[in-house]
Amino acid sequence: MSDSDALKKPVPLPDADSRVYWEGANQGKFMFQRCNSCGKAQFYSRSLCSHCQGKELQWLAARGRGKVASFSVVHRAPIRAFAADVPYVVALIDMDEGFRFMCNVIHCDAQAVRIGMPVKVVFEERPGSSQKIPQVELM
Ligand SMILES: [Zn+2]
Repeated sequence: MSDSDALKKPVPLPDADSRVYWEGANQGKFMFQRCNSCGKAQFYSRSLCSHCQGKELQWLAARGRGKVASFSVVHRAPIRAFAADVPYVVALIDMDEGFRFMCNVIHCDAQAVRIGMPVKVVFEERPGSSQKIPQVELM
């Protein structure tokens, strides 16, 4: 790995189960699945319902609103590409549509984040990649 590659943040490689999600993100849509059999939402996307094993899943665009369910402040970057970002927040977000999503809370002071705070989805652009990454920011 070259020195400049070590400073690039990883980007997702969409597969058959996640392609709709990542293509949606590039269009500013936060996509998730809902099961036609049991009606429950699931995240991340899969080919079967994680609640009832149903095979008929529909893709929907979320409103993009949720609340912080839990979070951690990262002070030591796991790889060099994130060193300039510390301290930063990794959070679990309970989305209004009934699923939980892990992401970064961006555009804020890492010490300001609290459980229960309302957030909205935003789409992060990473240098050197055309793939936008769903994240959240405080409302
Ligand atoms: Zn189901």
